[in-house]
Parts: sequence; C-alpha cells; structure tokens
Amino acid sequence: MTTQLLLLEDDPAIARTVAYALERDGMAVTHSLLVHDARQQMRSRRFDLLVLDVGLPDGSGLDLLREVRHAPATVAVPVLMLSAHGEEIDRVLGLELGADDYLAKPFSPRELAARVKALLRRAGQGKPAAAAAAPAVLFDDEAGQRICLRGQPLPLTRREYRLLAHLLRGAGRIHSRDALLAAAWGDDSESTDRTVDTHIKTLRAKLRELDPAREYISTHRGMGYCLDLP
Ligand code: CA
Repeated sequence: MTTQLLLLEDDPAIARTVAYALERDGMAVTHSLLVHDARQQMRSRRFDLLVLDVGLPDGSGLDLLREVRHAPATVAVPVLMLSAHGEEIDRVLGLELGADDYLAKPFSPRELAARVKALLRRAGQGKPAAAAAAPAVLFDDEAGQRICLRGQPLPLTRREYRLLAHLLRGAGRIHSRDALLAAAWGDDSESTDRTVDTHIKTLRAKLRELDPAREYISTHRGMGYCLDLP
C-alpha cells in the first residue's frame, strides 16, 4: 500500500521540492497551502504521516498539530514540523505539543526524506508481520469498550477506559492534561486538571493490581503523562 502523506506548506517552491523528494521514494503526497484545506483533507481521509509548516497565511501549523493530537483518530499519526530558521520557540512548542520531529528551513530534500522514512519506520510501517507476531501487553478491545492487560480485562469505568485508550493509542508520547481532558471528558466544563490526576491515580492502581512488577504510566512534570510499554 502506498504511504499517504499530507504536506501543509504555503511556499510553492519548498512544497514542490518536498513533494518531489518524497514521491521519488514512492510516497503519495497531498499538498495543502492553507490550514483550512489541510483540516478538510484530514476529515475526508487517513494519512500515514503529516509534514506541517508553522507559518501559514490562515493560521499556524502548530494549531493543526494540537488538533491532530487531541483527536483519537489521529493521535498516533507521526508529525514532522517545518519552520523558519532559528525559530527556537516554535521548535520547543512543536515538540511539547507532540510533534515527532522537527526540521528548520532551509533543509535538504534528502534530509527531509530520510527523517520521514525514519518516522515511518518508528511508527511500524512496513513491518506488520513483526507487530502482529508479538502479543500486545495492553490491548484495546474497542468493540467491547475494554482494555486487557496481558490478556486479562481491566475493571475500568467509562472515563478510565477513554483515558487509558487515548494514552495507549499514543503510547510513548507525553500527553498534556488538557489533551487528556479533551479525549476522555470532551467538553464537560466541570472537569479540571485535578480530575485527570485523580483518574490517573486509580488507573495506576488498577494496572498495578494485575501487574505489580512495573509502572505503566509515567508523570512528566509540567508536561503531562505518558504510557510506557515494555
Ligand atoms: Ca510558511
């Protein structure tokens, strides 16, 4: 299956170079000039990886990144950010918001292609056999709305299920309390950061009950929580 990429970049010359470099490697590139258009594209289909510029005529690629990381369907899609040279603040913000990699302009098309391929490898593209062979430690049985730890279903409330399912989809990545709130509580304005902390605490206790040997959820001070899989 052809790898589908979404490229959000308003500079036509850069977009052409990037698209050429990636298409030469056999990937299909959909190009958007505006945040608005990229958002539409993402609603209509699935992409394997996103390449997002930061400064766009109708907004910021960082806003789209935030939306991508908050939506269950796209939380695990690898994202590579592009930005003007020396925009340190964008780089830090991008990584905090959950970008997987970052390239400062100007960059060589070859380097971009190499980074994209590394991200796809990390995301498990092209290795479905290996992924299928290893039994999942934590398995989200979406149809049954339950999560199993080493084959045993965890006794979770609805919120706990949504929270853990979200962490599991983006395993290995730090999720801010805001993102977790949005994922598990939607727009319930009664909930606060404290609500997330309390639920993480009970989730940890339930995981520990089935597997006392290890800690699955780590706290990252000032940033949020991360689900670490062995
Ligand atoms: Ca730009």
